[in-house]
Amino acid sequence: MRDTWPLLDKIPFPAIRRGTLQTLQVNVGYRCNQSCVHCHVNAGPNRTEEMEAATADVVLAFLEKRRIATLDITGGAPELNANFRRLVTAARDMGVKVMDRHNLTVQEQPGQEDLPEFLADNQVEIVASMPCYLQDNVDRQRGKGVYDGSVRALKRLNALGYGREGSGLTLNLVYNPLGPSLPPPQAELEADYKRILGERFGIAFNNLFTLANMPIQRFGAILMSQGQFETYLDTLLHAHRDENLDGVMCRTLLSVDWRGYTYDCDFNQMLDLPLTHRAKRTHLSELLEHDIAGNSIRVAGHCFGCTAGQGSSCGGALKEAAE
Ligand code: SF4
Ligand code: SF4
Repeated sequence: MRDTWPLLDKIPFPAIRRGTLQTLQVNVGYRCNQSCVHCHVNAGPNRTEEMEAATADVVLAFLEKRRIATLDITGGAPELNANFRRLVTAARDMGVKVMDRHNLTVQEQPGQEDLPEFLADNQVEIVASMPCYLQDNVDRQRGKGVYDGSVRALKRLNALGYGREGSGLTLNLVYNPLGPSLPPPQAELEADYKRILGERFGIAFNNLFTLANMPIQRFGAILMSQGQFETYLDTLLHAHRDENLDGVMCRTLLSVDWRGYTYDCDFNQMLDLPLTHRAKRTHLSELLEHDIAGNSIRVAGHCFGCTAGQGSSCGGALKEAAE
């Protein structure tokens, strides 16, 4: 796979600094039951990187010590990690809000039969990928049969109250474009998703987040092999809006990898741009007593994926998400 970092590193991006830390985003491993073409993690069934119990203990100690409001668990398919459920229940016992970056089809993996009930019992907020309401587009990006599996999973979640008014169980969907273009306006697309998924399947959800694809890892390599890397970067650069700089997720989020090393965001994790101290990687255990507010953020050309157009953060379009 061709690496896009040498090209991204040459592109300057405005300097930004960290604010108050609110969210710990923990990548518990790169194993996934899917191998989507746009995956910025390059996740798949054969990846062996997995967070161990001792690292999960550090995560829990950090949540408690630094009084973090939100634990955002990602992967791969995070639910496949042996420590996933322990992280969720221990964080919830501390009163921490927990988000699960959920690919929906993992519900049909062996041993995950009770996953929807577990998530509901712990009031975990679900952020689920659903890159289109049309079968062909979903299966092309995420693999054959993923659309049908996702619909079944969404129905299961709805049956438990997820996405239903007054249930207190939040189900958000994530859209990202199929190719090298910016996402359409979030509010309009959300209305289309609600209408079509509602009419066809009776599916309900709370919000749709639209995210731009990052020109890194699998998607970046595809862009390069198809000669579209420069054009896509140009699209992102020309759509950059300074006002999006305040809302980028790295200001309030710290990303942790499966070994416990820290990064400004999950994208920097995938580009292997760690937080460092005296030229050494910073482990989460070293930040138990140390506040990183005010530190500068490691930026480069890929960051335009967060500030182009309506902007993209973990919570979707920046402007509309703030409204
Ligand atoms: S995009 Fe998500 S579901 Fe698809 S391979 Fe990557 S981690 Fe797995
Ligand atoms: S990719 Fe986005 S979230 Fe990550 S450092 Fe750049 S601006 Fe921040």
